[in-house]
Amino acid sequence: MRASVYRGPNDLRTETLPVPRTGAGDLLVKVSTCGVCPTDIKKIQYGTVTPPRVFGHETSGTVVRVGARVRGFSVGDRVALHHHIPCLDCHFCRHRAFAQCETYKRTGITAGFEPSGGGFSEYVRVMPFVLPGVVKIPSKNSFEEGAMLEPVNTVLKAVRRLNLLPGDVVLVAGQGPIGLMFTRLLQIQGVRVIATDLLASRLKLARRFGARWTHLVPGDGLSQLVSRASRGLGLDAAIIAVPSDAVALEAQALLRGGGQLMLFAHTKRGDVFKLDPASVCVDEKDFLGSYSADFTLQKEVARLVFSRRLDVRPLITHRFALDQTSTAVALAARPTEDALKILVTPGSC
Ligand SMILES: [Zn+2]
Ligand SMILES: [Zn+2]
Repeated sequence: MRASVYRGPNDLRTETLPVPRTGAGDLLVKVSTCGVCPTDIKKIQYGTVTPPRVFGHETSGTVVRVGARVRGFSVGDRVALHHHIPCLDCHFCRHRAFAQCETYKRTGITAGFEPSGGGFSEYVRVMPFVLPGVVKIPSKNSFEEGAMLEPVNTVLKAVRRLNLLPGDVVLVAGQGPIGLMFTRLLQIQGVRVIATDLLASRLKLARRFGARWTHLVPGDGLSQLVSRASRGLGLDAAIIAVPSDAVALEAQALLRGGGQLMLFAHTKRGDVFKLDPASVCVDEKDFLGSYSADFTLQKEVARLVFSRRLDVRPLITHRFALDQTSTAVALAARPTEDALKILVTPGSC
């Protein structure tokens, strides 16, 4: 089979690999589509993990082999995959900190080499411990919609970490695919969203995804807008879906007392920023982060996406063949004005 193999920083090569061997507890899935995710981009660009690997974890495809001990799946099933599943039983899981669970940190899907997702290839082996995360895609929905379950899950998990009431005013900074998902999921909850971005085209889409107000940055007037929208109270929460310290600090200042700041894109370690601790202690402004998915939300995520209450189709703007994976990654790392979610489509060649 063909796969896009990571051979070192910024070095992805299309190579021929053996189709993964599967055991009695595994599935073999023929990949249709795999989303390009910022976490993979970082690993590929900065070389933070050892090569060789096959990345890609927002994967959907068709079951082509079912291990003798696997129940509930048949050859021909169209499925969306999840590469991390928590044990639900350890200290972290009992605290619902699933992303910190040791079992969760193991990757259960591979196209060969050290398991790393494997979606940028033609076939993946799905190991027993991640089978509970495999979701069947209804016949009316596409593989592309299936590949979006994982990112939607990470967004719903973050929304659930916030204490929001209907009518609340929340800033969503950054209207890329993730920010747009936040906007829509918050709107479904009855929250009024102020959406900001550097690109006017994205703000237009943010309106379609339910933003009540939009604000183009850089530009004055955000604090006036917040004041008007919240009748002088300030933001109930702000979600920072861009890796910018300045944006996070500006938003923190616009929170009401007891409001919450959610960091969703600050994944690079080692940055430091200065914050008035009294804004946390006296003003009770919470600082939160959210990372990765919550397995227990999977059914709800599938319902939202497959019913198209959260219609992910307008978020998908580019599709690349498997041998164009490095072009797909480069575009996702530096998106053009019209680029949102970018997919690699091994199944179409
Ligand atoms: Zn992802
Ligand atoms: Zn656990």
